[in-house]
Amino acid sequence: MTNKHPFDDFGINLFSENVMKECLPHPVYQKWKTATRKEDALDRPTADAIAHAMKIWAMEKGATHFTHWFQPLTGSTAEKHDSFIEPGDHNQAISRFSGKSLIKGEGDASSFPSGGLRATFEARGYTYWDCTSPAFIRDNVLCIPTIFVSYNGETLDKKAPLLKSAEAISKQATRIVNLFKDKDIKHVNAMVGLEQEYFLVDKEMYLKRKDLVHTGRTLFGSMPPKSMDLRGHYFGSIPARVQAFMEEVDEELWKLGIYAKTEHNEVAPCQFEIAPLFIDANVAVDQNLIIMDVLKKKADKHGLACLLHEKPFQGVNGSGKHNNWSLVTDDGQNLLEPGDRPHENIRFLLFVCAIIEAVDTYPEMLRMAASSYGNDYRLGADEAPPAVVSICMGEDLEIVLEKIRLGENEIDDVVEPKAYAIANLSYVPKDTSDRNRTSPFAFTGNKFEFRMVGSSRSASTTNIILNSIVADSLCKIADKLQGIKYIDEVRKKSLDICRDILQKHHRILFSGDGYSSDWLDEAEKRGLPNIKCYLDSISSLSSEKAVAMFDRMKVYNRAELEARVDILTEEYRKSVKVEVLTLLDMSKKEILPALVREIKFYSDAQNSLGFENSYYQRKIKHLVSLLDNFDKQYHDLKQKMENRQQYPDNMAKAQYLNTVVVPAMTDLRSVIDQIEDAISSDNYPYPTYDDMFVSM
Ligand code: ADP
Ligand code: MG
Repeated sequence: MTNKHPFDDFGINLFSENVMKECLPHPVYQKWKTATRKEDALDRPTADAIAHAMKIWAMEKGATHFTHWFQPLTGSTAEKHDSFIEPGDHNQAISRFSGKSLIKGEGDASSFPSGGLRATFEARGYTYWDCTSPAFIRDNVLCIPTIFVSYNGETLDKKAPLLKSAEAISKQATRIVNLFKDKDIKHVNAMVGLEQEYFLVDKEMYLKRKDLVHTGRTLFGSMPPKSMDLRGHYFGSIPARVQAFMEEVDEELWKLGIYAKTEHNEVAPCQFEIAPLFIDANVAVDQNLIIMDVLKKKADKHGLACLLHEKPFQGVNGSGKHNNWSLVTDDGQNLLEPGDRPHENIRFLLFVCAIIEAVDTYPEMLRMAASSYGNDYRLGADEAPPAVVSICMGEDLEIVLEKIRLGENEIDDVVEPKAYAIANLSYVPKDTSDRNRTSPFAFTGNKFEFRMVGSSRSASTTNIILNSIVADSLCKIADKLQGIKYIDEVRKKSLDICRDILQKHHRILFSGDGYSSDWLDEAEKRGLPNIKCYLDSISSLSSEKAVAMFDRMKVYNRAELEARVDILTEEYRKSVKVEVLTLLDMSKKEILPALVREIKFYSDAQNSLGFENSYYQRKIKHLVSLLDNFDKQYHDLKQKMENRQQYPDNMAKAQYLNTVVVPAMTDLRSVIDQIEDAISSDNYPYPTYDDMFVSM
């Protein structure tokens, strides 16, 4: 980025709409555009023409291979590279990329989780181009975003359901907008902006900690005394290599057409945040997955390790992935923007109430959708939202909603000015939007920010669920309004609907301090679920009400949901298992010998004196008692881990791990943390929290 303008290369590695406009014959471009709007299917000659243009474009930029880039249920991304090369006449290599290769790929799906959806005799899986998300080039490979399905068409990935949920919400939101008869629109897009938090640590130190390498978090480590007070020390200025890292991350993301803004975050030592501009939900999820990958690779290049785990360090703030979400019509109206005109405000209220109803009807599912095992260590601790889902509308809006709930705004005649006082919200200053950072789900002026979401996961599930549940609410509302002839009647009925929803669901509204223990008591009184462990939320995905809702919205069928519950449960078991095995291994091979060395060190010192020294005696006694305790906790964990075999099925095993093994891990950790405090630096085998924080 020397003499050139830093943004000169923006989007050069993206086969964007502009590129398509330029390099495709206009009728082909038009057909693609129609296909992205789902108004018509893409025909073969069009696909061939796009594939050809894509290949030429990619090869000019040095690409030699292409891949169908997809998002299996592991939560990360997968790709299988094929080169463009094919044998031509006379032993000459030619390049070829057909419309068929662009649209459809076929491969062995058996290495990806399917939760029983893919019968063993049918190991193939198929990938299909998502023509709404642009192809891009990374490391000389043309990456084509695709969905991934089984032979029978069941979805095996996280993209297909997201596209379906986007379609569902578009359809229902469009119905409502058009009922207000302002101007007919065709689509409503769920727009998403994802803020990604992450930690950076020195790579050499990272490699010395097998827990970080294998599990993404430190399984032990004691907080340096006063470390949070020393924050200023850690954050004097951005260290040069972090600065260089961030510049390269931005540069690469800009080339991929991602509007990234990296910023230094002062919340916790070594923690940072990157947030690109919001965009259509499916593209936002794709971009976030790319961002996570770029962060990891660039960090590695700069002698750093990027930690995307929700809670790499106990006692220090965790990392989230704030999911900012709004609904925008094809003519650019944000449906969550309180407008200046009365009818817009009734419409705004209707959308807000649909969201209130959706969130209060499916809080367990949202809690699940925001989480993974790692988020269990973040939620409810050190400046992170609690595990109770609630909505913060901000005090001003809450007053308005409360008036509607109590029927204080009966509008007999919508033309009467006093009625507008509430209905048009004109006295609600728009920028009083919430700065309440303690809420898991907050209205922030013209969007909702879901802050419970953990940093390590794909944001796909979060948005699939958000889109689907809100679509379902909107559908019910649209059904009630359908057929009403006069616009004034629509408005009046809309307010009735809002009142009904608020009377039923106002318990979900809370604009106070979400971190306080008072709120947890209050939430319990209100009957809001407080699901402390992620595992306990997983089965909400296949509850009867969820199955029925997803079926109505045509997003998942029962088999697909049950498969997902199975996969998530198994994934939970694997995560815990890796942690336990890693902790036991580190304990036995390094912590124990370190402690023994320390005991010997003091024993030798005592022996060399020739008379009893009370300090040495006390020290030895303390170390030996730690040794006993360590021995006990170590074997306790080991035994409990072995006992899991007694449980026959996936969920029973997982529950056992959750209630018995995870607490045993915590117990062993607490002894190890005491050992770390007790032994000399020379003898301690691992970089400590302090070492890692200061190294940056
Ligand atoms: P914060 O105050 O939490 O840092 P910002 O205003 O910086 O929030 O925005 C955070 C994210 O929200 C960004 O990715 C931004 O693009 C996105 N965002 C802004 N407006 C919208 C919207 N209408 N819909 C969805 N996301 C949005
Ligand atoms: Mg935020």
